[in-house]
Amino acid sequence: MSVSFERDHAASWYADTANAAPERPALEGEVSCDVCVVGAGFTGISAALHLAERGFSVVVLEAVRVGYGASGRNGGQIVNSYSRDMDVIEKKYGLDTARALGDMAFEGNRIIRERVERYAIDCDLKDGNLFAACNDKQMQALREHKSLWEHYGYRELELLEGGAVKREVDSERYTGALVDHGGGHLHPLNLVLGQAAAFESLGGRIFETSPVTGLEHGEPVIVHTAGGSVRAERVVMAGNAYLKGVLPEIESRSMPCGTQIITTEPLGEARARALIPNGLAVEDCNYLLDYYRLTRDNRLLYGGGVNYGGDDPSDIESVIRPKMLTTFPSLADVKVDYAWSGTFLMTLNRLPQFGVVNDNVYYAQGYSGHGVTCTHLAGRLIAEVMTGREERFDAFAGLPHPPFPGGRLLRVPLSAIGAWYYQTRDKLGV
Ligand SMILES: Cc1cc2nc3c(=O)[nH]c(=O)nc-3n(C[C@H](O)[C@H](O)[C@H](O)COP(=O)(O)OP(=O)(O)OC[C@H]3O[C@@H](n4cnc5c(N)ncnc54)[C@H](O)[C@@H]3O)c2cc1C
Repeated sequence: MSVSFERDHAASWYADTANAAPERPALEGEVSCDVCVVGAGFTGISAALHLAERGFSVVVLEAVRVGYGASGRNGGQIVNSYSRDMDVIEKKYGLDTARALGDMAFEGNRIIRERVERYAIDCDLKDGNLFAACNDKQMQALREHKSLWEHYGYRELELLEGGAVKREVDSERYTGALVDHGGGHLHPLNLVLGQAAAFESLGGRIFETSPVTGLEHGEPVIVHTAGGSVRAERVVMAGNAYLKGVLPEIESRSMPCGTQIITTEPLGEARARALIPNGLAVEDCNYLLDYYRLTRDNRLLYGGGVNYGGDDPSDIESVIRPKMLTTFPSLADVKVDYAWSGTFLMTLNRLPQFGVVNDNVYYAQGYSGHGVTCTHLAGRLIAEVMTGREERFDAFAGLPHPPFPGGRLLRVPLSAIGAWYYQTRDKLGV
């Protein structure tokens, strides 16, 4: 396999404000362990830490550096639940599946908070996020969303009808909003770096700049890199959208998608607080949504856009800045200091894809845009299944994942046409 990888994090506000972390060596020679994890994003590091806490010897192989992928570049929004609403899950997969998934929908968030506290991870964790409605139809959906989650016992939601949304966001774009006081936001790169350090403090080993080039299936599995190999009883594949051909069996039913973020110059506390007075993370309810929040140094970090297939636009600022100015026209004079993109993995049903290949190669991927919390749940469920508790992992592994219409060749243009249709409906409010 001849896929090339970078050598360091992509340039971003996160990379510039990352906590100090060691540069780990590349793998050289042969090592053995109970579990080899491929990929050091949230999924891989969460799984590695849960496994190390349970006494497994674990080796993590990362192609670039810890947090190089989506986990070190995302909006940092702690969004509870999944990228598919529970009513759709109930209708498509039945009440039992919905109940099983519903019972785990807030656990990823709890795991993050436990990790931050137990390992004293400095990652700017803040409470509260908000879903903003751009039209009456979206507002009605938010009302239904609140009732549905109350039905699942979740009581942290607050509806802001009409102009009340201005209490939280100073924008004319919205007809109302739903606040999740139990959600939040954080510096994602520092979260993953902190968990990696916690994993190493328990004896775990991480090799960076060590792209996995192939697996030799069997018992044990041999995981190959350019400089060495790992013999492992079990493997966790956690490369998500960046995996690129190592395990085609799990890559054919998902699609990499690019999304971009800009970060303004520091606005000063007063100007920043005038935009988002209580510092919530915000995402709107459009099919191609905008998401944004303030950073600890009072910048506005604003993301949006989706590129099916994952290719980056040549000029990110020219794509995202107009979106930011539609939301906050008062920022017309503000300079953009950072612009970057990242790739997440989308599944057709927007639910994560978990499973096992040849009985000992586990995977979790395809969180479809909302992965900050679910990746942390995935890590725990992988550790559970490896210690003989299968039912919660299986609730996800049993979900069907149909291929995208058009196959690898046509899935990108067909998805773009679908997105154009839904985007038009959002604009018309129908
Ligand atoms: C710009 C952006 C904004 C987002 N915003 C949010 C948000 O605000 N809230 C939210 O909930 N979700 C958000 N997401 C989604 C979320 O970031 C992802 O779902 C999540 O980070 C996926 O984590 P992961 O560990 O599965 O994958 P990644 O973080 O992508 O990690 C995969 C890792 O595997 C490594 N790898 C790949 N191939 C190999 C190989 N062959 N050998 C060794 N290592 C390999 C990669 O280098 C990478 O480090 C966003 C995504 C993007 C791109």
